[in-house]
Amino acid sequence: MTKTTSLVLFGPPGAGKGTQAEKLSHHFTIPQISTGNILRKLRTEDTPLAREVSEVMLRGDLVPASLVVDIVEERLKEKDCGAGFILDGFPRTVEQAKALERILGEQGKQLDAVVSLEVSEKELVARLGGRRLCPACGRAYHLSMNPPKEDERCDTCKKPLFQRDDDREDTILGRLRVYWHETAPLVDYYRHQGLLRPIDGETGPDRVFAQILSVLT
Ligand code: AMP
Repeated sequence: MTKTTSLVLFGPPGAGKGTQAEKLSHHFTIPQISTGNILRKLRTEDTPLAREVSEVMLRGDLVPASLVVDIVEERLKEKDCGAGFILDGFPRTVEQAKALERILGEQGKQLDAVVSLEVSEKELVARLGGRRLCPACGRAYHLSMNPPKEDERCDTCKKPLFQRDDDREDTILGRLRVYWHETAPLVDYYRHQGLLRPIDGETGPDRVFAQILSVLT
Protein backbone atom coordinates (compact mmCIF):
# COMPACT_ATOMS: atom_id res chain seq x y z
CA MET A 1 0.00 0.00 0.00
CA THR A 2 1.29 3.46 -0.82
CA LYS A 3 1.45 6.28 1.73
CA THR A 4 -2.13 7.20 2.47
CA THR A 5 -3.81 10.25 3.90
CA SER A 6 -7.60 9.84 3.82
CA LEU A 7 -8.33 8.11 7.07
CA VAL A 8 -10.98 7.24 9.58
CA LEU A 9 -9.65 6.94 13.11
CA PHE A 10 -11.93 4.51 14.82
CA GLY A 11 -12.31 3.21 18.36
CA PRO A 12 -14.24 3.49 21.62
CA PRO A 13 -14.26 6.67 23.73
CA GLY A 14 -10.94 6.90 25.53
CA ALA A 15 -9.04 4.82 22.94
CA GLY A 16 -6.77 7.76 22.11
CA LYS A 17 -8.33 8.86 18.82
CA GLY A 18 -7.83 12.56 19.55
CA THR A 19 -4.18 12.12 20.51
CA GLN A 20 -3.37 10.03 17.44
CA ALA A 21 -5.41 12.22 15.09
CA GLU A 22 -3.36 15.21 16.20
CA LYS A 23 -0.08 13.38 15.60
CA LEU A 24 -1.24 12.17 12.18
CA SER A 25 -2.43 15.63 11.28
CA HIS A 26 1.06 17.06 11.92
CA HIS A 27 2.82 14.16 10.24
CA PHE A 28 0.83 14.23 6.98
CA THR A 29 -0.12 17.96 7.12
CA ILE A 30 -3.80 17.18 6.73
CA PRO A 31 -6.71 18.35 8.90
CA GLN A 32 -8.15 16.47 11.86
CA ILE A 33 -11.93 16.52 11.63
CA SER A 34 -13.28 15.72 15.09
CA THR A 35 -17.07 15.70 15.19
CA GLY A 36 -16.88 15.72 19.01
CA ASN A 37 -14.81 18.95 18.97
CA ILE A 38 -17.13 20.57 16.42
CA LEU A 39 -20.20 19.63 18.49
CA ARG A 40 -18.58 20.85 21.73
CA LYS A 41 -18.07 24.23 20.06
CA LEU A 42 -21.64 24.25 18.78
CA ARG A 43 -22.89 23.49 22.31
CA THR A 44 -21.58 26.81 23.59
CA GLU A 45 -23.95 28.81 21.34
CA ASP A 46 -27.18 30.20 22.72
CA THR A 47 -29.63 28.46 20.36
CA PRO A 48 -32.30 25.75 20.69
CA LEU A 49 -30.11 23.41 18.58
CA ALA A 50 -27.14 23.97 20.90
CA ARG A 51 -29.29 23.15 23.94
CA GLU A 52 -30.59 19.98 22.30
CA VAL A 53 -27.07 18.87 21.33
CA SER A 54 -25.86 19.61 24.84
CA GLU A 55 -28.52 17.41 26.43
CA VAL A 56 -27.76 14.51 24.09
CA MET A 57 -24.01 14.75 24.75
CA LEU A 58 -24.52 14.90 28.50
CA ARG A 59 -26.46 11.64 28.33
CA GLY A 60 -23.64 10.10 26.30
CA ASP A 61 -26.00 9.43 23.37
CA LEU A 62 -25.36 10.10 19.71
CA VAL A 63 -26.62 13.35 18.22
CA PRO A 64 -28.92 12.94 15.20
CA ALA A 65 -27.13 11.54 12.14
CA SER A 66 -28.51 14.26 9.85
CA LEU A 67 -26.69 16.92 11.87
CA VAL A 68 -23.26 15.25 11.96
CA VAL A 69 -23.51 14.13 8.34
CA ASP A 70 -24.20 17.72 7.23
CA ILE A 71 -21.29 18.96 9.37
CA VAL A 72 -18.87 16.43 7.87
CA GLU A 73 -20.14 16.97 4.34
CA GLU A 74 -19.52 20.73 4.54
CA ARG A 75 -16.15 20.33 6.28
CA LEU A 76 -14.86 17.89 3.66
CA LYS A 77 -15.63 20.42 0.92
CA GLU A 78 -13.09 22.84 2.37
CA LYS A 79 -9.86 23.36 0.49
CA ASP A 80 -7.57 22.01 3.20
CA CYS A 81 -9.12 18.54 2.75
CA GLY A 82 -7.83 18.31 -0.82
CA ALA A 83 -4.67 16.43 0.21
CA GLY A 84 -6.51 14.19 2.67
CA PHE A 85 -8.13 14.26 6.10
CA ILE A 86 -8.47 12.36 9.35
CA LEU A 87 -11.99 11.70 10.53
CA ASP A 88 -11.97 11.39 14.32
CA GLY A 89 -15.25 10.19 15.86
CA PHE A 90 -17.11 9.84 12.55
CA PRO A 91 -18.68 7.59 11.34
CA ARG A 92 -20.20 6.13 14.50
CA THR A 93 -22.99 4.02 12.95
CA VAL A 94 -23.44 2.00 9.78
CA GLU A 95 -25.93 4.67 8.64
CA GLN A 96 -23.20 7.32 9.00
CA ALA A 97 -20.68 5.09 7.20
CA LYS A 98 -23.05 4.79 4.25
CA ALA A 99 -23.57 8.55 4.24
CA LEU A 100 -19.79 9.01 4.24
CA GLU A 101 -19.50 6.76 1.20
CA ARG A 102 -22.06 8.89 -0.61
CA ILE A 103 -20.31 12.14 0.36
CA LEU A 104 -16.88 10.90 -0.70
CA GLY A 105 -18.27 9.55 -3.97
CA GLU A 106 -19.91 12.90 -4.74
CA GLN A 107 -16.71 14.78 -3.90
CA GLY A 108 -14.48 12.41 -5.92
CA LYS A 109 -12.64 11.23 -2.82
CA GLN A 110 -12.09 7.84 -1.26
CA LEU A 111 -10.98 6.34 2.05
CA ASP A 112 -7.55 4.75 2.22
CA ALA A 113 -7.84 3.10 5.62
CA VAL A 114 -9.85 2.80 8.80
CA VAL A 115 -7.42 2.70 11.71
CA SER A 116 -9.09 0.91 14.61
CA LEU A 117 -7.62 1.51 18.08
CA GLU A 118 -8.30 -1.49 20.30
CA VAL A 119 -8.41 -0.94 24.08
CA SER A 120 -10.05 -3.07 26.79
CA GLU A 121 -13.15 -1.78 28.58
CA LYS A 122 -11.34 -1.75 31.95
CA GLU A 123 -8.60 0.46 30.56
CA LEU A 124 -11.13 2.78 28.87
CA VAL A 125 -13.01 3.43 32.11
CA ALA A 126 -9.73 4.20 33.92
CA ARG A 127 -8.58 6.52 31.13
CA LEU A 128 -11.83 8.46 30.79
CA GLY A 129 -12.37 8.91 34.54
CA GLY A 130 -8.90 10.45 35.03
CA ARG A 131 -8.83 12.53 31.84
CA ARG A 132 -8.39 16.28 32.31
CA LEU A 133 -8.06 18.95 29.63
CA CYS A 134 -6.57 22.41 29.36
CA PRO A 135 -9.28 24.96 28.52
CA ALA A 136 -6.80 27.13 26.62
CA CYS A 137 -4.74 24.76 24.42
CA GLY A 138 -6.83 21.57 24.62
CA ARG A 139 -3.87 19.47 25.80
CA ALA A 140 -5.00 16.23 27.45
CA TYR A 141 -3.65 14.90 30.77
CA HIS A 142 -4.47 11.97 32.99
CA LEU A 143 -4.40 12.42 36.77
CA SER A 144 -2.33 9.27 37.34
CA MET A 145 -1.01 8.10 33.93
CA ASN A 146 0.08 11.48 32.55
CA PRO A 147 -0.27 14.07 35.33
CA PRO A 148 0.57 17.76 34.91
CA LYS A 149 3.72 18.97 36.73
CA GLU A 150 1.75 21.38 38.91
CA ASP A 151 -1.44 20.48 40.74
CA GLU A 152 -4.13 20.15 38.02
CA ARG A 153 -2.72 23.02 35.89
CA CYS A 154 -1.59 22.89 32.27
CA ASP A 155 2.23 22.62 31.98
CA THR A 156 2.23 25.11 29.10
CA CYS A 157 -0.67 27.52 29.76
CA LYS A 158 -0.75 27.19 33.57
CA LYS A 159 -4.58 27.28 33.39
CA PRO A 160 -6.55 25.03 35.77
CA LEU A 161 -7.50 21.80 33.98
CA PHE A 162 -11.13 20.74 33.63
CA GLN A 163 -13.00 17.46 33.25
CA ARG A 164 -15.33 17.03 30.26
CA ASP A 165 -18.88 16.76 31.61
CA ASP A 166 -19.36 13.52 29.63
CA ASP A 167 -16.22 12.02 31.25
CA ARG A 168 -18.08 11.65 34.58
CA GLU A 169 -18.68 8.08 35.66
CA ASP A 170 -22.42 7.77 34.92
CA THR A 171 -22.01 9.19 31.40
CA ILE A 172 -18.87 7.12 30.68
CA LEU A 173 -20.78 3.88 31.07
CA GLY A 174 -23.57 5.20 28.82
CA ARG A 175 -21.06 6.22 26.14
CA LEU A 176 -19.41 2.81 26.21
CA ARG A 177 -22.82 1.09 25.94
CA VAL A 178 -23.65 3.24 22.91
CA TYR A 179 -20.26 2.36 21.43
CA TRP A 180 -20.72 -1.41 21.74
CA HIS A 181 -24.29 -1.31 20.39
CA GLU A 182 -24.09 1.28 17.65
CA THR A 183 -20.47 1.81 16.66
CA ALA A 184 -18.66 -1.51 17.13
CA PRO A 185 -20.57 -3.15 14.22
CA LEU A 186 -18.55 -0.86 11.95
CA VAL A 187 -15.49 -3.05 12.61
CA ASP A 188 -17.03 -5.84 10.52
CA TYR A 189 -18.38 -3.37 8.01
CA TYR A 190 -14.91 -1.98 7.26
CA ARG A 191 -13.20 -5.37 7.56
CA HIS A 192 -15.40 -6.63 4.73
CA GLN A 193 -14.37 -3.63 2.65
CA GLY A 194 -10.70 -4.47 3.25
CA LEU A 195 -10.09 -1.07 4.88
CA LEU A 196 -9.71 -2.06 8.55
CA ARG A 197 -6.27 -1.69 10.17
CA PRO A 198 -6.48 -2.94 13.79
CA ILE A 199 -3.95 -1.42 16.20
CA ASP A 200 -3.17 -2.36 19.81
CA GLY A 201 -4.14 0.90 21.54
CA GLU A 202 -2.66 0.01 24.94
CA THR A 203 1.05 0.35 24.17
CA GLY A 204 1.49 4.10 24.88
CA PRO A 205 0.95 7.08 22.54
CA ASP A 206 4.32 6.97 20.72
CA ARG A 207 4.24 3.24 20.10
CA VAL A 208 0.64 3.40 18.94
CA PHE A 209 1.63 6.16 16.53
CA ALA A 210 4.55 4.10 15.18
CA GLN A 211 2.22 1.12 14.67
CA ILE A 212 -0.24 3.31 12.77
CA LEU A 213 2.48 4.65 10.48
CA SER A 214 3.72 1.14 9.81
CA VAL A 215 0.29 -0.08 8.66
CA LEU A 216 -0.20 2.96 6.44
CA THR A 217 2.98 2.58 4.39
P1 AMP B 1 -16.15 12.41 21.20
O1 AMP B 1 -15.42 13.68 21.51
O2 AMP B 1 -15.79 11.85 19.84
O3 AMP B 1 -16.04 11.39 22.30
O4 AMP B 1 -17.70 12.81 21.09
C1 AMP B 1 -18.39 13.36 22.19
C2 AMP B 1 -19.89 13.26 21.97
O5 AMP B 1 -20.26 13.99 20.78
C3 AMP B 1 -20.43 11.86 21.74
O6 AMP B 1 -20.66 11.17 22.96
C4 AMP B 1 -21.73 12.16 20.99
O7 AMP B 1 -22.73 12.64 21.86
C5 AMP B 1 -21.32 13.33 20.10
N1 AMP B 1 -20.79 12.86 18.80
C6 AMP B 1 -19.52 12.98 18.33
N2 AMP B 1 -19.38 12.44 17.11
C7 AMP B 1 -20.60 11.94 16.78
C8 AMP B 1 -21.13 11.23 15.66
N3 AMP B 1 -20.35 10.91 14.61
N4 AMP B 1 -22.45 10.90 15.68
C9 AMP B 1 -23.24 11.21 16.70
N5 AMP B 1 -22.81 11.85 17.82
C10 AMP B 1 -21.51 12.22 17.86
